[in-house]
Amino acid sequence: KSGFVAIIGRPNVGKSTLMNQVIGQKIAIMSDKPQTTRNKIHGVYTANNSQIVFLDTPGIHKRQSKLGDYMNQTAMSTLHEVEAVLFLVDASEGLGGGDRFIAEQLSGVKTPVILVLNKIDKIEPEALLPLIAQYNKLHEFAEIVPISAKLGSNVNTLLDQVAKYL
Ligand code: GDP
Ligand code: MG
Repeated sequence: KSGFVAIIGRPNVGKSTLMNQVIGQKIAIMSDKPQTTRNKIHGVYTANNSQIVFLDTPGIHKRQSKLGDYMNQTAMSTLHEVEAVLFLVDASEGLGGGDRFIAEQLSGVKTPVILVLNKIDKIEPEALLPLIAQYNKLHEFAEIVPISAKLGSNVNTLLDQVAKYL
């Protein structure tokens, strides 16, 4: 099994951290500064009969500049060319306008979208279910997987879920 997976999400939710955790080397440029990742970066994960090519997208975000427009278009066109989309959100910050904006962009997308609730190491376990209920109103997600990209928690489960769509 092999296929392409796009990682989307607003700046600083942990897209680069997740990709680095999965690929096991520092491929994506990481920074606390928003939007350091300007290009699609391909990382290839190979294990258990599956090969997954990850695309760390520049991020879909509200219009701020011509460059921002271009980055949005690049990210959006990618969504139709992949087997699955990982929509990464920051569980410790909760559902905000940035996430809503991205969810709106997903409305016409037929590609399965896996909601990834990242940074669960920063939240109380009880906060998870109410958060999931909120996100469920935004889009019909194919799967919902809580992880900590930083600690690597539940990342294997995420990879198993992704493999279902290859
Ligand atoms: P990106 O802009 O979406 O690519 O986000 P980055 O991967 O650059 O991460 C932004 C910040 O969040 C960095 O300081 C990361 O160390 C931090 N971060 C990412 N994932 C986690 C996580 O699972 N837990 C915690 N506590 N911090 C994280
Ligand atoms: Mg990044």
